Amino acid sequence: MVIPRSEHGISRKQFSPNAIKVLYRLKDGGYDAYLVGGCIRDILLGLEPKDFDVVTNATPEQVKKLFRNCRLIGRRFRLAHIVFGREIIEVATMRGHHQGEDEANKISQASEHGQLLRDNVYGSIEEDAERRDFTINALYYSINDFSIKDFAGGVADIKARKIELIGDPETRYREDPVRMLRAVRFATKLDMEIAKATKTPIKPLAPLLSNIPAARLFEESLKLFLGGKAEENFLMLRELGLFGQLYPALEAILSKPESDFERNFIQKMFANTDERINSNKKVTPAFIYAALLWFPILEKVAELEADGLNSHDAFMQAINQVLADNARCVAVPKRFTLGARDIWHIQQRIDKRSGQRAYRLSLLPRFKAAYDFLLLRVDSGETQQKELADWWTEYLNKDVTGQKDMVKALGSGQGKPKRRYKRKPRKQQKAE
Ligand code: ATP
Ligand code: MG
Repeated sequence: MVIPRSEHGISRKQFSPNAIKVLYRLKDGGYDAYLVGGCIRDILLGLEPKDFDVVTNATPEQVKKLFRNCRLIGRRFRLAHIVFGREIIEVATMRGHHQGEDEANKISQASEHGQLLRDNVYGSIEEDAERRDFTINALYYSINDFSIKDFAGGVADIKARKIELIGDPETRYREDPVRMLRAVRFATKLDMEIAKATKTPIKPLAPLLSNIPAARLFEESLKLFLGGKAEENFLMLRELGLFGQLYPALEAILSKPESDFERNFIQKMFANTDERINSNKKVTPAFIYAALLWFPILEKVAELEADGLNSHDAFMQAINQVLADNARCVAVPKRFTLGARDIWHIQQRIDKRSGQRAYRLSLLPRFKAAYDFLLLRVDSGETQQKELADWWTEYLNKDVTGQKDMVKALGSGQGKPKRRYKRKPRKQQKAE
């Protein structure tokens, strides 16, 4: 179905000027070019698009020839990125169908579970639309006549507020199990219902997520937790059997009937995260991971102590084991696990307040996060240390400038400490 310009009410002004530049350059180069996916969907819903994706019949190599500011990326999906300072416009070549038998063919490959390992078969716009995940994501804005092409009934589904996969749901989930997580994310983000046929297969197929690389699952879980709908996502992921695929150790604890404090703690943490994001405050994944792995760590500590380890060693070992287990499902980059470690370590020391200890503790870079973590533990009923939390609240509200001078006079904390180690460049940071 084609919706002419006069009927859809979208104007070029609503798009990023860089995206429009890319469309015109492709058009002038003799190619077809469309804006596609989330940006059209979001504008039709009255939301501000997060990014602008372009699709064209030019191959990535042909795209590269047209733009000086172009890099080609990806293996599973080869894509062109056109870079405008901080904004990147992603240009994909229209995808076509896979010819089942060409297993040996390098351009398309599927696993024994039906998962697509390579997807570089190019095709027509109709074929490209069938390869997209949900109907609401298969809308194309043409730069030739400014119409919207709707191949899968996406406009009607936007009106009906329905998340529906294109094609046979089971086949589409097998091709790419991450679509199950995307269904949840779009349902909460757009305040829509997942259609019955799209929802029913999720629970039985959830275990397919174990075939997805842990780095990709980390990216997806960040999108689920940092989009301002983390609490809703958490509840729906659990309901559909997806949460346990990402965080099996935590899910095993949460699914016990007696784990009220634990469920309360995680849900509160996500509610706080949403509140901060929706009021433009900073949120660090280190805090979220400190919370998600806290109960598995406490459980492991108890096990190790029962085996005769002292509490300090048990705590250290538990942290290492839980992080290593978690990395098999979700690869959290080291810069966040280091932050989580700081938060956990401070929990162990936060009751030591005598002399200068409280002041020195309060100077640690993660102290504020560790204090928030303590409040969360007290609020959710996980720990009874309300008196300790109140003491810190009062302490942090006090004017501590006098104490600062005192510590200076004692000869510590003077000036900025010198950095002893060079920070590793980001790329080399390993996941843990
Ligand atoms: P947002 O950017 O708001 O998260 P989006 O719909 O733009 O939402 P992207 O991940 O940016 O999502 O993907 C852009 C488009 O690419 C989607 O709208 C969809 O058409 C297609 N797409 C992305 N991931 C998949 C997938 N796993 N399977 C099929 N199509 C996909
Ligand atoms: Mg997008």
